[in-house]
Amino acid sequence: MEEKKELLSLDKGELEALFAELGEPRYRAAQLFLQLHRGLSPEEMTNIGKATKAKLSQVSTYHLPLVRQKLVSALDGTIKYLFELSDGHCVESVVMHYEHGTTICISSQVGCLMGCKFCASTIGGKVRNLTAGELVGQVIAAAKDSGERIGGIVMMGIGEPLDNFDNVVKFLRLVNEESGVAIGYRHISLSTCGIVPKIDELASLALPITLSISLHAADDETRSAIMPINRRYPVAELLDACRRYYGKTGRRISFEYTLISGKNDMPEAAKRLALVLNRRLRTRTETMPIHVNLIPVNEVEETGFKRSDKGAIRRFAAILEENGIRATVRRRLGPDINASCGQLRRAELKRESKEQ
Ligand code: SAH
Repeated sequence: MEEKKELLSLDKGELEALFAELGEPRYRAAQLFLQLHRGLSPEEMTNIGKATKAKLSQVSTYHLPLVRQKLVSALDGTIKYLFELSDGHCVESVVMHYEHGTTICISSQVGCLMGCKFCASTIGGKVRNLTAGELVGQVIAAAKDSGERIGGIVMMGIGEPLDNFDNVVKFLRLVNEESGVAIGYRHISLSTCGIVPKIDELASLALPITLSISLHAADDETRSAIMPINRRYPVAELLDACRRYYGKTGRRISFEYTLISGKNDMPEAAKRLALVLNRRLRTRTETMPIHVNLIPVNEVEETGFKRSDKGAIRRFAAILEENGIRATVRRRLGPDINASCGQLRRAELKRESKEQ
């Protein structure tokens, strides 16, 4: 028997094909797509008959991530969800409020293979990729539960999105669909630790999303020590890929730089960062806009890394600015609910293993 299809992973064309197989008219598929992406289950839909629902359930499955835990910040209204997937695994999503609207941060995998030393998400390794339906499901479930109109997405939760390339690209197209969640590519950011061939593959699709690069160090020695991926794709190769990405898409790239006390927050590191970015990304003919996001590291119990003090952060930002690199220090959202990704799932895993 053919495997059942996951309804939320299907695009409109695939739903139409499914309906054609069931002998149902085409326009019904468009209606189904719209309602699924508004958060209704097939069961809840009133314009689909019982017989059709029965046929549909024989060939397809429907799972919206379930809210296993929800934390709301008393300070800024940030909402953090621990979502349970159909096989019981959990991922995190965070709904954040900015002046220009509401943005959701979603996860791309259960766990992560990349092994960055400061990161909570990678401690237990990678369990599996999320399907396109589970990616869009986080957006739909969060909008449904919170009642918020979500206008932007950042793929900065658990997992490495470019290590789940096909599902992530399908998700980007699904979420951009006019009659679905309808979030424009320009309001979507994808963050990567730097898998160079996949950055080129993404560039070749020319989707106008924003690329964020988790850089965290501008010299190979420091970067390889905290991010194993750097041994495969060192800084120079990564930045060359960024240049190609900008050349193809014209989209500005932002760089994430997590400040860790005594590791990568010294004035020499800031000077080096400015030098490397200017040298690799800017020539006399090209003036690529560069933006560096400075993020004081979130202290994760297992890593032992400490956040930089305020003076070091200010000094670091000033050196970048003096050298023509725009830099902002990221405001910490939801500090009272530990809103940074990976930590809630980690706490849940620890709790479960204690109970056993
Ligand atoms: N795998 C992707 C996306 C997920 S992580 C990537 O590497 O970009 C989202 C961002 O949070 C990355 O920049 C990551 O390096 C950063 N991050 C991970 N752990 C952190 C911590 N403890 N403190 C601050 N930033 C962290």
